[in-house]
Amino acid sequence: MKAVRIHEFGGPEVLRFEDIPDPRPRKDEVLVRVRACAMNHLDLWVRKGLPGVKLPHILGSDIAGEIVEAGEYITGLRPGQRVLLAPMHFCNHCAKCAAGLQNRCPEFTVLGNLVDGGNCELIAVPAVNVISIPDSLDFPQAASVPLVFLTAWHMLVGRAGIRQGQTVLVLGGGSGVGIAAIQIAKLFHARVITTAGDERKLEKAHALGADYGINHYKQKISQEVRNITNKEGVDIVVEHVGAATWDESMKSLKPGGTVVTCGATTGSNAAFDLRFVFSRQLSFLGSYMGTMGELYEVLGHVFAGRLKPVVDRVFPLKEARAAHEYMEKSQMFGKIVLTP
Ligand SMILES: [Zn+2]
Repeated sequence: MKAVRIHEFGGPEVLRFEDIPDPRPRKDEVLVRVRACAMNHLDLWVRKGLPGVKLPHILGSDIAGEIVEAGEYITGLRPGQRVLLAPMHFCNHCAKCAAGLQNRCPEFTVLGNLVDGGNCELIAVPAVNVISIPDSLDFPQAASVPLVFLTAWHMLVGRAGIRQGQTVLVLGGGSGVGIAAIQIAKLFHARVITTAGDERKLEKAHALGADYGINHYKQKISQEVRNITNKEGVDIVVEHVGAATWDESMKSLKPGGTVVTCGATTGSNAAFDLRFVFSRQLSFLGSYMGTMGELYEVLGHVFAGRLKPVVDRVFPLKEARAAHEYMEKSQMFGKIVLTP
């Protein structure tokens, strides 16, 4: 089969489109023909070099495709079925997995991070990862869902415990997680404030349901939040930007508010004044992907059309390098998808 692999860490030039042997599924695995694989910032981090990644390596976490073959031990899945894959790897038999907390499994990793991903034509995965999709979603749309919608759902619902009518600040409203978080917050009838680096992205975020937009290059986030909320602040900040916004996120909270973070795109070191944390009774929560139960929960809303994936642009798999270069320019609104 054709695949894009990296043999060394580095810039987009390390991506190699090449022929490799087809995967041989085990009796408890499903062989899936990849029809679309959406990109995430994780692809850039893995390409540049993350600990534990074995080379050569296939990138790609978000996969949609068709079942080619289901192993002998598998029932209920058949060739030709249109599916997406849960973008995670876990042991499925430890105490955490048995409790439905797959993202706390000692073996937990994201597909395409410590295990090979979907920048290829065929992938073999355990049956537990395979979820059928409705005809209303095409493959690029389906591939655009799992990682970011699961991440945003776990952040807002699983971790921050969003309640109806709260005020939520979503940083980076044009990012994959931002697009998902805006829509999920609106499902809970929240008032949503979002940020982006240009007016075009803010308009699109508004169309997705965001009530207010802040241009983070021209305006100071916490000051605008104060203006919008009549000095109250927000209940929840959805953080994934990191060092560049951490201080502003914290200052945007109302007393008792919560920052929930799933990433640090601009840098991972942030400082804060502990007096501010205890006197205002703030909460800071880490969030990493989500559980299988949460994935099924959020997919229910996607399949019913209440949450919508946004595809920015589709590239052929062999142009993965151009897709990476495009992602690094950060001009996209929504997902960049590779199709074999
Ligand atoms: Zn486990």
